[in-house]
Amino acid sequence: QEDILRQSQKLEAVGQLTGGVAHDFNNLLTVIRSAADLLRRSDLPEDRRQRYVGAIADTASRAAKLTGQLLAFARRQPLKPEVFAVGERLQAVADLVRPLVGARIEIETVIECEGCTVEADPNQFETALVNLAVNARDAMSGEGCLTLKTWLACEVPSTRGHASAPGAFVAVSVSDTGSGMASEMLGRIFEPFFTTKEVGKGTGLGLSQVYGFAKQSGGEIDVDSEVGRGTTFTLYLPRAEAKAVVAPSQPQEGADPPT
Ligand code: ADP
Repeated sequence: QEDILRQSQKLEAVGQLTGGVAHDFNNLLTVIRSAADLLRRSDLPEDRRQRYVGAIADTASRAAKLTGQLLAFARRQPLKPEVFAVGERLQAVADLVRPLVGARIEIETVIECEGCTVEADPNQFETALVNLAVNARDAMSGEGCLTLKTWLACEVPSTRGHASAPGAFVAVSVSDTGSGMASEMLGRIFEPFFTTKEVGKGTGLGLSQVYGFAKQSGGEIDVDSEVGRGTTFTLYLPRAEAKAVVAPSQPQEGADPPT
C-alpha cells in the first residue's frame, strides 16, 4: 500500500514537473518569437540586429539543451559499457570543464590510482562528471576551487540506508568550496526535476542522470555537504580488474572454458 501511495505521489510530481518544463520551454519560445518580430523592422540599426540574432541563437541552444536532457532522461539510454582508465577520463573532463568555470575558479585534479579501470559507459561517465562540475561551479558564484579526484576504495560507505557493498571500487569525487547544502535539501537533490535554479537555468535532471548512471553501473553515489563550506559528490564504480576475478557461483552449462 505504501508503494501505491509512493507511486501516485511520484506520478503527481512527474505531472507537475512536466508542466514546469513545458512552461520553461514556452518562455524560451516567447523570447525567440519576440526577437524574430523585432528583426522584421527594416530600419533596425546593425548593432541591434546583431543583438537580436544573438538572443535567438542563445535561446534556441538553451531550448535544445532542455529537450536534450529531457529526452536523455525519458529514454534512459541503454548504457554501452566499456573498460576504460578512470584517470585518463578524469583528466579529459578537467580539460572539458576548464572553459566552463571561468578564470577565478581553480581546477585541481588528483589521480591516486593511475591505470585503474572500470567497466561502464564512458560517455555517460563524462556526462555525469560534467553535470557535477557544472553544479559545483554554480555553487561557487565565480570564485573557489573545484577538485576532481580518483582513488581506489575498498568499500562503498553506506548511503541513505543502503548496505555497504564489499569489493574493490574506484572512487571519483567532485568537490567544491561553494554554498553547501542543508540536510533537508540533501534528501531531495536526486529527485528528477528538483532544482533551486532560475527558470531556464536549471532542469533538475543533472543529478538524476548521475544517480541513474551510478546505479546502472553497479555503483553508488554519495554526497557530503556543509553549508557555507562546500560539497563533495563521490561516485563509486566497481573496479574492472576486480570484476574479472570474481568466479561465477555456478558453472555455466556449455559456457566457453576459461582460456
Ligand atoms: P540543476 O543543476 O538543473 O538544478 P541538478 O539535479 O543537477 O539540477 O541539481 C539539483 C539541485 O541540487 C540544484 O538546483 C542545486 O540546488 C543543488 N546542488 C547540486 N549540486 C550542488 C552543489 N555542488 N552545491 C550546492 N548545491 C548543489
